[in-house]
Amino acid sequence: MADQQEIVICGLDGVLALIEHRLHHLYNEEGVKHWDRFLEACGDDMPNLPLIDRLNQARAEGIPVILLTGRSAAVREQTLAWLRQWQIGYDGLWMRPANDFKPAAEFKAAVLAQQFPHVVIRRIYESDTHLDFAHWCTEQNIPCTLIGHNQGNGESRELFDLKIIRHACGHTVLYPFYGDDDFTWPDRVQQLGEGSCRLCQVEEQRKEQRQKSEQARVQAQQRGLPPLEGSDKQVAWAETVRLNAFGAIDKVLKWMDQVSAQAEEEDPDHWHTMQQGVRRSIEYLENQIDAKWWIDHRHGMYNSLDGGRSLLSSIAQELGYY
Ligand SMILES: [Zn+2]
Repeated sequence: MADQQEIVICGLDGVLALIEHRLHHLYNEEGVKHWDRFLEACGDDMPNLPLIDRLNQARAEGIPVILLTGRSAAVREQTLAWLRQWQIGYDGLWMRPANDFKPAAEFKAAVLAQQFPHVVIRRIYESDTHLDFAHWCTEQNIPCTLIGHNQGNGESRELFDLKIIRHACGHTVLYPFYGDDDFTWPDRVQQLGEGSCRLCQVEEQRKEQRQKSEQARVQAQQRGLPPLEGSDKQVAWAETVRLNAFGAIDKVLKWMDQVSAQAEEEDPDHWHTMQQGVRRSIEYLENQIDAKWWIDHRHGMYNSLDGGRSLLSSIAQELGYY
């Protein structure tokens, strides 16, 4: 092992390049992700200067630094110019081909397997928003340092630091801090340290979702509903959607019980048509075993009387019951 070549791998977006200023192209009130504009604005990123120092240290020890990024090669020229502009030293740049739409983690793992099969990866620097790749590194026993999002406003280039935060979960994440006047670093450091890292937060959320879905599955079984069909992920998601829908249906049935006598008296024909429509719609939903159907119809399935009424009437209309 001793004479084996070592390398360091570093990502770009959210790692070496601070992208906060262009995130609004993806997350905005419109709800539209303008990937083209997000990409095009990469030339204005602030560099993560303290991280560049670390990379330079590695290079000074003779360890090549390879930049490996899911950023599209469509902006290769801008990226090269940006690296020149900030005098960032590196020994290789791998960008995702412009027509490659597979997940970035898959692309990165493939590049490492194909281009660097016999080297030792000393460390990978990755953004704490690209957790799939971070998980992959953990599986491969490759040391991975997560970079959190910039904790300053990114405007002051004079005040910067890369803070090492040890989170309550025990994981260490590096955060670029580009400070400003009304921003106290000790407070932010303490705040971050008291919480879990992103990796653990996401794992916690997934665990909660799995529990919720398992509870929903048990309740569906108790209710006599058939098992759902689809991928594990689809079924888990659809179980909670279906549970909500039947919660709402229960409320509708209870409401119908309460108003039945009066409705029967006022307009018996209409009431009977409606009862039949509701019954057949419920039957249809009880027999709906396609997980994807539930996911596709999840909008508006609120566990409330109104939610149940609008669900049943839309099914009845769709099927032509009334
Ligand atoms: Zn953690």
